[in-house]
Amino acid sequence: LPVPVPATETNPPLEASAVSEQPVVELRDVTRSFPGPPPVTALHPTSLSVGRGEYLSIVGPSGSGKSTLLNLLGLLDRPSSGEYWLDGQPAHEASEAERTALRGGLIGFVFQSFHLLPHRTVLENVMLSTMYAPIPRSQRLRRAYDALCRVGLEHRLDFRPTTLSGGERQRVAVARAVVTEPALLLADEPTGNLDTATSEEVLNLFDELHLDGLTLMVITHDDAVAHRAQRRVRITDGHLQELS
Ligand code: ADP
Ligand code: MG
Repeated sequence: LPVPVPATETNPPLEASAVSEQPVVELRDVTRSFPGPPPVTALHPTSLSVGRGEYLSIVGPSGSGKSTLLNLLGLLDRPSSGEYWLDGQPAHEASEAERTALRGGLIGFVFQSFHLLPHRTVLENVMLSTMYAPIPRSQRLRRAYDALCRVGLEHRLDFRPTTLSGGERQRVAVARAVVTEPALLLADEPTGNLDTATSEEVLNLFDELHLDGLTLMVITHDDAVAHRAQRRVRITDGHLQELS
């Protein structure tokens, strides 16, 4: 059993449940406003705790604040107020350099439009994620290969992304996101560019990654996609509401 860590001056006390199971994500009264004109409050005070291994979806219509929330979670943007503890670290207090390091070490991203480099092979695209990891090239190669096996694309190593189907491309993007072994995988409309059958490939892959213990947050406007997650949160005009 994990031994509770006593609170010290540098370690603020955590809630009883959090001592043994530190959340991956903890938002405390986080807001995000844009000064405008016109001024917009894209995210009203939001508190959210996501435990290790959870698979959570955030569902809401266009303009409800999904990308705003994802950008905050992914350290691509800073909250206007509130605290963001990422894997126990106070990301809201971090410098720009520290945020870049936290992002690279802890977060994997999957986007609607894949963002693969067309002139690199599938293997090279995945290897680029570990470019700054302090490990030899042979190990980066091995990890990229393992990540591609995880998404079932080891037979596509030498292909260019443009020669793959949409579902295969998104699976390469997932391999690229998980090759760094992130604490949190963030996916923004991951099936937005895919037809129903191909979406299924990607959603099945998320199920497998969840079973393997990965923490996933999927942002979507699609209720069917949201329902695949173990826990669902609705966002409406910057307000979050837990669904059962
Ligand atoms: P979603 O991703 O759910 O479509 P967004 O998070 O992109 O929604 O946007 C939520 C609200 O915040 C919208 O009203 C949008 O116009 C506004 N917004 C988002 N980004 C900016 C920005 N950089 N400047 C001003 N307003 C913004
Ligand atoms: Mg959006």
